[in-house]
Formats: sequence, C-alpha cells, structure tokens
Amino acid sequence: DVVLDRVSKYYGPDHCVVDDLRLHIRQGELFVLLGPSGCGKSTVLRMIAGLEEITSGDLWLGGAHANGLAPRDRDVAMIFQSGALYPHMSVRGNIGFPLRLAGREPDEAGARVTEMARALGLESLLARGPATLSGGQRQRVAMGRAMVRDPRIFLMDEPLSSLDSGLRHELRAEIGGMVRALGATTVYVTHDQIEALTLADRIGVMRDGVLQDVGTPTQIYDDPATVFVASFLGSPQ
Ligand code: ATP
Ligand code: MG
Repeated sequence: DVVLDRVSKYYGPDHCVVDDLRLHIRQGELFVLLGPSGCGKSTVLRMIAGLEEITSGDLWLGGAHANGLAPRDRDVAMIFQSGALYPHMSVRGNIGFPLRLAGREPDEAGARVTEMARALGLESLLARGPATLSGGQRQRVAMGRAMVRDPRIFLMDEPLSSLDSGLRHELRAEIGGMVRALGATTVYVTHDQIEALTLADRIGVMRDGVLQDVGTPTQIYDDPATVFVASFLGSPQ
C-alpha cells in the first residue's frame, strides 16, 4: 500500500502546494490523481518517489515509514511526461538496461525483457531503435524500462500528454490493461478527465493542493463531493 497521512508540502513559509493530504492507495490498485494544472499532482508523486521532501505528515510504503528513505530504497519506479530513451540502443537494449546495470544474468534478463515486451505489445519492435518508433511506442518502451525490475510501486506522471491526440486516444484505451498486466500498485497522474474515468480503479480529485474527493469513477461522477468536482468532471446536475 501507499499511505499518505496528513502530508503537506510548502515551498517557503506561506506557499502551500499540498495541504494535509490523507490517502490510502491499496496494493495492486490503479489509482488516478486528477486535477487541473498546478494543483500539486506532480509534487505528490515526487514525494512518494523520494525526489521531494515532505514538509509535514507521514508517508508509508508497504507498511514501512518512508519519509526519510532514499529513492533507491523505496522500490518505486517513475515515468515522466516524455521518458527519454537511450537513442543508440534497441528497444531490447533500452528495456533491459536496468537489468544489465544490476548485473543480472543475460539469459534471465533476456527472458524478462521478452516478457515485458509481450505485456506492452512491443514484441515485434525489439530490434528497432527509438528513432524509428511512434511517440506511443516510445512511451511503452519507457514503461517497460521502468518496470523491468518489478518494483512494487509504479508512478506515472501524465504519460500520454506529449502524444498527439490520435495516439493519445489509442493508448488511453490500452494503457489500463498494460498497467494492470504489470501488476504494481500504480499512481497515475493526469489532468484529463476522460483518461481518469476510463482507466482508474479509483480517482482522487485535487484542487489547489487539497484532495476534494476519492472514489471509483462511477462514485465520483454520479455523486461528486463538491461543486468543483462536479464541474471538473462534467457530472450531470
Ligand atoms: P501540471 O498539471 O501543470 O503538471 P501539477 O498538478 O503537477 O501541475 P505541481 O507541479 O505539483 O502541479 O505544482 C504545484 C504547485 O507547486 C505549482 O503552483 C507550482 O508552481 C509549485 N511548485 C512546484 N515546484 C516548485 C518549486 N520547486 N518551488 C516553488 N514552487 C513550486
Ligand atoms: Mg505535473
């Protein structure tokens, strides 16, 4: 599980960007954090990853207190808006790179890369170079590279936002299945309502650093907690 207990983030004494956040993300869940630009979504992800210090409150990962834990000790993988691939390596080389770095046996690593490629629909592209891939394919390779060492927690920060709208629609329909096949507890950040409603097991809606509502897509769409949530999701009034 990922548990945030009264987590706040301040930049300077008066600039609060995450305010007293309480959230329990369950093991294996695909949780989508949804909200407009600047509401603090990426800051929450970076605090979970250990890339940003928590000002106050507590973070628990898999039952262990994680506030001061170094990123590499958190068993967390994160992908960003535009995950840069290694341009001189093939798809196989990119996905397998973290395993080589960890000194894993080539046979074992090769089998793992093939397994990842199957889960992400990249089997026929393993020998290709990044420059020959579409944006959506590149993002899938970035997901494979992030997940190849099988982290417990997978953080995705607007992974579709750099794609053109055609690819975004295509990948939006597929990404939920791919993420679930990877099997990690996933926190997926987006400002796109349709993406959130399509993908999520549960959604948390944020505004100005404050969590406004948490629930399944149907729960928050049909019974939004605040006027903001209703208008942001376009719920019928
Ligand atoms: P977007 O959808 O545009 O990516 P977001 O919801 O991810 O937005 P954050 O990046 O978490 O938002 O930023 C939340 C707020 O914190 C913003 O007002 C931003 O300007 C501010 N902020 C982020 N990083 C810093 C920093 N290092 N110093 C000061 N303010 C910051
Ligand atoms: Mg962001």
